[in-house]
Amino acid sequence: MDIEEWEQRHTEAFYDAKEALPYLDGMFVAYNSNIDAIRHLTEEDLSRLVGLFDEAEIQDRVAVYPREIAEPLDFVARLLISMREGKAAEVPAYTAETHEWLKEHLGFDYARMGGQAGIISNLLARLGLKKVVAYVPWLSEEQAEYFADSGNILHPKVENGQVLLKPPGEAFKPGTGSKVNWILEFSKDLKVTCAGSTFRVPRDNRLIISSRPKWIRLDMDKEIYEQLDSLLPIDGAMLSGYQMIKEEYEDGSTYNDYVEHSVKVIDKLKSLNPDLRIHVELTSIQNRVIRKAILTEIVARHVHSLGLDTVEVANALNVLGYEELSYSVIRKGENGIMSLYQGAVQLMKDLKLERVHVHSLGFYICILAKGHPLTLKEQRDALLFSSVLAAAQALNGKIDNLTEAEAGLEVPVSAKGIEDLETFQLYCTGRKLCTPDEFEYGYIYGPDHDAILIPSKVVDRPKATVGIGDTISAGAFAAMLARMKQRQAGK
Ligand code: ADP
Repeated sequence: MDIEEWEQRHTEAFYDAKEALPYLDGMFVAYNSNIDAIRHLTEEDLSRLVGLFDEAEIQDRVAVYPREIAEPLDFVARLLISMREGKAAEVPAYTAETHEWLKEHLGFDYARMGGQAGIISNLLARLGLKKVVAYVPWLSEEQAEYFADSGNILHPKVENGQVLLKPPGEAFKPGTGSKVNWILEFSKDLKVTCAGSTFRVPRDNRLIISSRPKWIRLDMDKEIYEQLDSLLPIDGAMLSGYQMIKEEYEDGSTYNDYVEHSVKVIDKLKSLNPDLRIHVELTSIQNRVIRKAILTEIVARHVHSLGLDTVEVANALNVLGYEELSYSVIRKGENGIMSLYQGAVQLMKDLKLERVHVHSLGFYICILAKGHPLTLKEQRDALLFSSVLAAAQALNGKIDNLTEAEAGLEVPVSAKGIEDLETFQLYCTGRKLCTPDEFEYGYIYGPDHDAILIPSKVVDRPKATVGIGDTISAGAFAAMLARMKQRQAGK
């Protein structure tokens, strides 16, 4: 594969997408957003925190290894465990008291938008879409402040029984609490002393306290559901956050209720605009019952497009009964990329999707059902556009507008990605799945599906990596829809 050629293709695809994006009328983005509060811990912070407690009690709590943060002592114990082991950990907190306590006793260095729907809304708005309709069922006043101030993000608001679209700052629900995830970072060699023993942090790492307030429901307000047409015109919907559905709730409702409501929303969106495309962005879902329900009941047959990373491909295959294939994806051995490809094809077939977009470090794979609406070159270019966005995001930690995203063009295409694809090419041509010629362009015309494989741009020393997966999926999906609209306009 010729790396120079791929650089050139990236550049052309980027400017083509830039031209196509204005053809979009709007995108609907729901459900999950939160606030990420980031604090880098110093030795002073730590001795102050430890000083707030009886050190013997801390030690006892460390031995208990709390699985959730129910009180401040659990927090200090989990922090010490993380620091000692140098392992990344995410621990849930189910009450707002933890957040209040951390705010009072520690504070944060800075805060940013978190959650897939929050990140995707802001990205699409900054790419200059005419209209991004965001919907977060738990939009608080504080959360509303984290939406991009670009004037093109609107959120439904019920006023006198009427659904109106307003800027998030005017659409929040008064009295709603905020979902704040704390990200506590600490550096290698930080010295920690507690109860007479001292150790040094073995490597840079972080502890995440993820907020899971009990009142959070992944659902849509009844009035908004009933007047969903007030969101129009929209060309597509990007839905995420289903992982927040719980098996059972204290009020006796179960995941079945929320799954059913979620499907109704999807069906209604499609009935309002039969051309509308729906994308679901997946993330890791610990609970297997929920993971399976999301895939087989919400995604399957209802949505068009699925975005996920390689670990999620393996996890999805696992609950769908393809254990061997799942392990082979995870092992990432010599056959890793082949298994990934086969796994993505399996997901497309089992879940009856039009499109499965898998992103990995160095390459992306997109499996397409026969009859998808664009040419393979157009589908490929949508992925290349998203690769430029990912590079810009990794390089600068943010994308404020399309002009800034051009910085991604300077990032080189990953040599490792090219190498991985070359391994795959041998496999493919060996099995006559494609000809070397097609592969040079990044396309495969399969018997029962088509596929795109592109090498992507990778930043060596990224400024930040959070949310890049969401950026890739949103960028490619928006570029694909934009090209569809541009074609409809006869361009
Ligand atoms: P997140 O949910 O934080 O976005 P994911 O695992 O879903 O994480 O996505 C991460 C993706 O971001 C990877 O699959 C890869 O394609 C991309 N990525 C990660 N690091 C870089 C980097 N340094 N440069 C370019 N792309 C990156």
